[in-house]
Amino acid sequence: MKIEHKCSISIIKIICVSLILLALSGAGIIVMATQVNTVTITLASGYELTVLTNKTNVSEILAESNIVLAENERVTPDLNEDITTNKSIIIRDKSIQEIQVAKISENGINTTLEEILDSYSPIIEKIVTQEEEIPFETITKDVSNSGENTRNKVIRQGENGVKQVTYKIKYKNDQEIEKTVLSEVVIKEPIDKIVQVQNNVTTRSSSTSRNSSTGTTIFKVTAYCPCAKCCGKFASGYTASGTKATAGRTIAASSQFDFGTKLLINGTTYTVEDRGGAITGNKIDIYCNTHAEAIAWGVKYLPVQVVE
Ligand SMILES: [Zn+2]
Repeated sequence: MKIEHKCSISIIKIICVSLILLALSGAGIIVMATQVNTVTITLASGYELTVLTNKTNVSEILAESNIVLAENERVTPDLNEDITTNKSIIIRDKSIQEIQVAKISENGINTTLEEILDSYSPIIEKIVTQEEEIPFETITKDVSNSGENTRNKVIRQGENGVKQVTYKIKYKNDQEIEKTVLSEVVIKEPIDKIVQVQNNVTTRSSSTSRNSSTGTTIFKVTAYCPCAKCCGKFASGYTASGTKATAGRTIAASSQFDFGTKLLINGTTYTVEDRGGAITGNKIDIYCNTHAEAIAWGVKYLPVQVVE
């Protein structure tokens, strides 16, 4: 009985030891089953520490290591995320750029970080001088009597001028963003193109009248005398053809009539001996002895016929 008792006690002991061993080994198996990670935590100061942990959640790992984030610090990955395969947690100061993003987005402008960084790229200024054309202008002179049946004749061809323009050009990211004219120097003035509106009838009828002596054309006929009012400072009493101006004979006409051409006007045959700056196209100026006579003549529209 006593031996049996002892015996049963030792069996119980064995069982107990076995159970304890079993429990320990079981715990060991459990410990082995939970993955233990070596995680690198980089602090905002740049200091790196390595922790051994069986946790994967970022906030739990930080809590376990007694790391508390300051207000101006952020962590990657986020606090509520798990550590990634590279097993590192990085704590950084919120950068200046991020503060800028916050400020701008407060104003309601959607700006990406890239755009902000872009706006910080340097602006380069260049002074550039280049030659540019100055386009010529076209001046039209209407020498026709009527607005009908006219033709345009180019009296002088236009020519572009040249100017030297100095610009201040601002570049950002090699792109021109601003161009300001600093100075302009004209090297060559443009030459205006002159177009004369001529009466088509005039040319035809005058050539016809010269050939056949029958054609007549209505001319604007005025009168002049040798005074300064009529002839300006060139008043000399002599005509452009060199003859002495004579009333009843001398008339001024445009170059469509050669000097010496005889024209029948209002029953009198005159001779083209003079020219005048204002005597263009179908205009004729009749020479008078006095200014009063010229004024008295006034302006008449008369048929003019070439006398052969
Ligand atoms: Zn006069």
